[in-house]
Amino acid sequence: MFAVENAKQIKHWLDKLGIDSEVIAHRTLPFFPEVDSASLVTAETNAEGKAFLLTPEAAAAWWKLRESAKAVGIDLNLVSAWRSVDYQMDLIRKKQQLGIAPAEFFSYLAPPGCSEHHTGCAIDINTPGCDEVSGVFGETPAFEWLQQHAGEFGFVMSFPLNNPWGFIDEPWHWCWHPASQRD
Ligand SMILES: [Zn+2]
Repeated sequence: MFAVENAKQIKHWLDKLGIDSEVIAHRTLPFFPEVDSASLVTAETNAEGKAFLLTPEAAAAWWKLRESAKAVGIDLNLVSAWRSVDYQMDLIRKKQQLGIAPAEFFSYLAPPGCSEHHTGCAIDINTPGCDEVSGVFGETPAFEWLQQHAGEFGFVMSFPLNNPWGFIDEPWHWCWHPASQRD
């Protein structure tokens, strides 16, 4: 259940998108405040020159994780990191333009304010040879390595199968939780 002010804020954003907030009323979604983008650092830049931003601590943890994977021949790269609420709204607008219903795209795309990517600690990971961020990533050696080792760097898979928030299984989506870091 959202705090009243968070629920109001989300409703305001959904109103702007022309989406009835009833569509998520049955969901128990988390609320993630947007981190101040000025506090973020570039964790990685892709071949197209797009920079992926994270908090300095999450970026440092990502670099260690990526290095450790590379040492055993596993290449990992970022395909998404920090997202502003505005950016999340743009992603939603693109789904709307494709004619996809909110009840459908909200199963894999968080409503504004509900994306862990707002925190600057969440990342979407891919590996060369895996065409897109999809369930297929869950069948790669890269994912197997992450399952075994990501926890050593404080990363947790946020949305496993049958997660309580009603998101689809997202093997590519991990979030840095310093408290969960284990040796
Ligand atoms: Zn994600």
